[in-house]
Amino acid sequence: MPAGLLHIAKTFARGIRPPAHKESTRALPIRRLPFAPELVVPLQQHTGSPSVPCVKVGQEVVRGEPIAKANGFMSVPMHAPVTGVVASIELRPTSRGEMQPAIVIHTYMGASQEVLYSAPQDVDAMTPNELVAAVRETGVVGLGGAAFPTHVKLVVPEGRRIDTVLVNGCECEPYLTTDHRVMLECADDIHAGIQIVQKAVGATRAIIATEDNKLDAVKSLNESRKKASTTVISVLKPQYPQGAEKLLIKALLDREVPSGGSPADVGVAVLNVATLAQLGEILPRRQGLIERVITITGPGVEHPGNYMVALGTPLSFALKHAGLKPDAVQVIFGGPMTGHSVADLDIPITKGITGILVLTGAETAKRPTKIYPCIKCGYCIDACPIQLNPSRLGVLAQRGLYEAMESEFYLNDCFECGCCTYVCPSHIPLVQEFRIAKAMNRQRKTAQ
Ligand code: SF4
Ligand code: SF4
Repeated sequence: MPAGLLHIAKTFARGIRPPAHKESTRALPIRRLPFAPELVVPLQQHTGSPSVPCVKVGQEVVRGEPIAKANGFMSVPMHAPVTGVVASIELRPTSRGEMQPAIVIHTYMGASQEVLYSAPQDVDAMTPNELVAAVRETGVVGLGGAAFPTHVKLVVPEGRRIDTVLVNGCECEPYLTTDHRVMLECADDIHAGIQIVQKAVGATRAIIATEDNKLDAVKSLNESRKKASTTVISVLKPQYPQGAEKLLIKALLDREVPSGGSPADVGVAVLNVATLAQLGEILPRRQGLIERVITITGPGVEHPGNYMVALGTPLSFALKHAGLKPDAVQVIFGGPMTGHSVADLDIPITKGITGILVLTGAETAKRPTKIYPCIKCGYCIDACPIQLNPSRLGVLAQRGLYEAMESEFYLNDCFECGCCTYVCPSHIPLVQEFRIAKAMNRQRKTAQ
């Protein structure tokens, strides 16, 4: 182990160890996908209020130019992912199936697509408040899948103090290797991003957490560390869902985020490595977030790999480039544990999409089709990393007692990792039932 690393073999209790399936893409360098003739930029790619368009139909836009403004603090601006012309602002389907307003841009295929829309700024001279404002202008959100506006995470709640920035590079979701490649290829940007975040929140140290199946990335991160860096790299045993922020905080710092609380309650800011790499690269140039790295993989893909993709690229265009095998039958945004199936291949790739997994009929045929009654084996309880009682929650869900699930059995603490569903011998779709229960509770509260 190189000097300066903090090696921690222990991990969190419980969880599961599903097959990693990362071998087909983890050694493949990031390649740029060509620009599609039409890009669709939904106005809500993040948690919070949708952005508000600041361009008109027929207007020419330059790659990187702001095209939508943030709408309130819990919102971010959008930037043109290509040089082209705004063809329409209209409702378009998204990955969750609903229609959402989107800015449709027709790409100038002959344009160089160089990002000219930038103005360098000295981030070292900025105050924490100026950094938060500057991060907001980039439109950066959590690229690990949550799409939570990053600038909001950088505002320390009143009465709290952040001492540690925890950088999440675990990437425990099977099949996905984007974070692995970003750590390997963009280590300098990650360290630059860490310094920005440390200064914004006032943290005295940073810990990069990853798993011991990414030691080449650890080496790259360690080599690019500056001598005076207060950043250490912690290497954990692979386990799912290691990347869940509450589990990481417990494993590395032995601090427990209270039920319903946030990492700031225990003095920690958690950010994903890809988010920090983007911040470290684009903030000093005063650019916007216009692209991201995704893994396109699975048995149904001809050319699996890690691709730099312009935001708004249609899924069908990305899949055409990566090549779909004739027996491909299912497309999933994200990985097999937390991802979701998509029905429409015209939906765009947005800020929170980490990967595209394509399965063939051979894999989907292995799935159980029959659900049996609960046999009270307790496997789900043993697997739940936050010690909920999925079996009991499942019984209440089947009876429609959604309120009791929340008030008595901590439904809202469930972060939908899917461990309980994975181990259930009766094939009860527990996590799906919990999602429905949460949605029903939200609906009830809205109605009230
Ligand atoms: S109850 Fe929720 S947190 Fe616990 S294993 Fe199931 S999905 Fe994961
Ligand atoms: S794993 Fe499935 S069968 Fe076993 S207790 Fe949990 S819900 Fe019941």
